[in-house]
Amino acid sequence: MDITNLKAWQLKEKIANKELKVSEITEAFINRSKDIDKDINSFTSHDYEGALAKAKSLDEKEPSGKLFGLPIGIKDNISVKGMKNTCASKILENYEAVFDANCIEHINEENGIIIGKLNMDQFAMGGSNETSYFGPVHNPLDLKRVPGGSSGGSAAAVSSRQVPLSLGTDTGGSVRQPASYCACVGFKPSYGTVSRNGVVSLSNTLDQVSTFANDVKDVALITSAIAHKDHRDLTSLSNPIDEITYTYDDAIKYLKTLKVGVPKEVLADEKDDEVEKAYRDSIDLLKNNGVEIVEIDLKDLKYAVATYYIIMNAEASSNLSRFDGVKYGLRDFDAESLEEMYIKTRAEGFGPEVKRRILFGTYILSQDKDRDYFQNALKARTLLINDFKQAFKMVDTILVPTSPIMPFEIGTNINDPIKMYNADKYTVPVNIAGNCAISVPSTKEHILNSGMEFICDNLEDNKLLKIAYAYEGLVK
Ligand code: GLN
Repeated sequence: MDITNLKAWQLKEKIANKELKVSEITEAFINRSKDIDKDINSFTSHDYEGALAKAKSLDEKEPSGKLFGLPIGIKDNISVKGMKNTCASKILENYEAVFDANCIEHINEENGIIIGKLNMDQFAMGGSNETSYFGPVHNPLDLKRVPGGSSGGSAAAVSSRQVPLSLGTDTGGSVRQPASYCACVGFKPSYGTVSRNGVVSLSNTLDQVSTFANDVKDVALITSAIAHKDHRDLTSLSNPIDEITYTYDDAIKYLKTLKVGVPKEVLADEKDDEVEKAYRDSIDLLKNNGVEIVEIDLKDLKYAVATYYIIMNAEASSNLSRFDGVKYGLRDFDAESLEEMYIKTRAEGFGPEVKRRILFGTYILSQDKDRDYFQNALKARTLLINDFKQAFKMVDTILVPTSPIMPFEIGTNINDPIKMYNADKYTVPVNIAGNCAISVPSTKEHILNSGMEFICDNLEDNKLLKIAYAYEGLVK
């Protein structure tokens, strides 16, 4: 038996009936990671010693906790006490977190085992994992290609079975899109479901801690462990996520009672051929299984990318002002004045994409531009929210491809930011409206494929998971 091929829920069963010891499992994943990660580059740092020590101590205990003995990787913008929290940047290259993020506290309470921190686009800005200060992550299914981003390391590590579970953050698609590119499952819960406390903010009104696994049952498992209201994040709310205890058949029966919306705008859109085919095939698969498909309008979808990039860059430029050489990380000691120190530290510490976004965000927030850009983006945000509200009066869920394009070769799009931004058009609307969404592979085999994204209304996460599980069951 290859332990690393097992899903988290299978590992849990084997620990419970004493077929496997926690330390055997931990060692198996660590050894696999040591073997293969030099080609993938999904980790930025490890805590093998801590993980093995914890595994040994759990060997002595009766299983308790949702994540008992399960190896987990954490995106490098989520604070884990005593481990680096680099955001894949030079400015935080040597910064160590001094406390656990709320979601990490829950992982520890549930007896999960943190193996290491995962590579990402710098400060979560990007969709290909090429903006990392520690070099690009390679797609484990085709090393020449990008794994998607910004949580590319989290997706690649799960897809290549270096960990069965990982955490990422999804501000505009950074979990769903890399899950699609790496052929695993990525779940973005409704805004507020998981506390943002201890997570380095990119864009406060869009950010959401999100999860990766190799099937829907596993993302439900890890999300159920970390989704709690937290008094330290006033935007967090009580939206408990249930573990999946029903069968594929139960879920499929349920799906047949629902209406699945397909937006006319998405049907008409230009996409890569593989994406187009996978989308049409998925619609047919649902239809042939007796699911009602309804064409819907998302008429303001065309504004989504512009709206997202204005709001995200505005909030990011403000958030990143805290990295000034004084409070955290890098400092230029040669500067002769405070202002020069700020300038030199930031010039040296941030990569080109981060600088581009700080400049853009600062510009659109400036006094005479604020009304033209930021205020209008907020209006467009309301239009999109209303489009979704209207749509969810007619359908239970909306199906779109996670990305209009397939994973491309490393280096091909990095100098064309507009092209990269436009590839986010099916994921960003969800963050703008605060809805929940999930990306599920559209093939049974573990190969490059176009992930399918199901979207549900705000706080309908458990319904979404059941729909996604049904789809996974139909694909299988
Ligand atoms: N690709 C998007 C961006 O570059 C998404 C980022 C994210 O979700 N963190 O902003």
